[in-house]
Amino acid sequence: MRFRTLCHLLIGCTLATAEQPLHAVQTDPLQAMVLTGQNNHGWQVLSAHYKNILEETGLFEVDVVTSPPPGGDMTDFAPDFSRYDVVVIEYNGDEWPATVKRSFERYMEHGGGMVYAHAVNHTFTDWPAFNEMMGIGGWGGRDESAGPYVKYRDGKMVLDHRPGHAGECVDAHAFSVVTRDTAHPIMRGLPSAWLHGTDELYSNQRGPAKNMTILATAYSDPAREAHWGVETHGTGEHEPMIYTIGYGEGRVFGTAMGHVDGGAPVDSEPWPAIDCVGFITLIQRGTEWAATGAVTQTVPDAFPTATEVSLR
Ligand code: ZN
Repeated sequence: MRFRTLCHLLIGCTLATAEQPLHAVQTDPLQAMVLTGQNNHGWQVLSAHYKNILEETGLFEVDVVTSPPPGGDMTDFAPDFSRYDVVVIEYNGDEWPATVKRSFERYMEHGGGMVYAHAVNHTFTDWPAFNEMMGIGGWGGRDESAGPYVKYRDGKMVLDHRPGHAGECVDAHAFSVVTRDTAHPIMRGLPSAWLHGTDELYSNQRGPAKNMTILATAYSDPAREAHWGVETHGTGEHEPMIYTIGYGEGRVFGTAMGHVDGGAPVDSEPWPAIDCVGFITLIQRGTEWAATGAVTQTVPDAFPTATEVSLR
């Protein structure tokens, strides 16, 4: 996939002339896999949504690969990661066969791209390499053995090694997402703060956090109730919401946002967490960056502002 990525960039540069600006150049589409099939969130809604919003950029061809159902026979489950520039993991469920895990590790070690959101961070607690790729996670029995809590304090990422359960979720509400890295290609041109559509706000994630960069945070308000963890209220801290992780030669884009209820049917829109123009834009830009290391997309005019949510 590194060769493909290089070609993608070189073709774009070679053909860009004074008469033919870069944005008009046709290049081979990037190949993206959305890997789904199990999640305690609505994976049917999410996988269809990711396919749609990636294809609408004109940059990607997207295949959806669906695992066997929970408890199903994984013997013949063998996604071919090597054909793809980027893999969107929309999966939170049964262990994959060891051969699939090793294949994904090799793919990432050699320059693959991975994207994940929200409850994917519950999965594969006992697969160290996957937890390194995610940087941070929650639930799934995670505690201090998973790595430190990752916080954002006094203008920088802080690793907090105190013991404890990983993962809480503040009641769904619209919340402000604050940009912390204005120079990163994914974040260039985005507002310094914007209002995200109603979503669960994760707090107290923890993990290896190796080669991790926090791009944006959200404030976990202690006045709001929290569930599915140890804390009963928000943490009063700026929690990581958007981040990148380097794994081998591979790139990972992750976000804690993107809730859809478990078992939600495909036509059950709207879901303000994923129909948020901010969320859509970040997934589109983050997936391009994970695939190529660059972002060529412009920020849409309908991007949310500091005071107004913007939904599709
Ligand atoms: Zn959720």
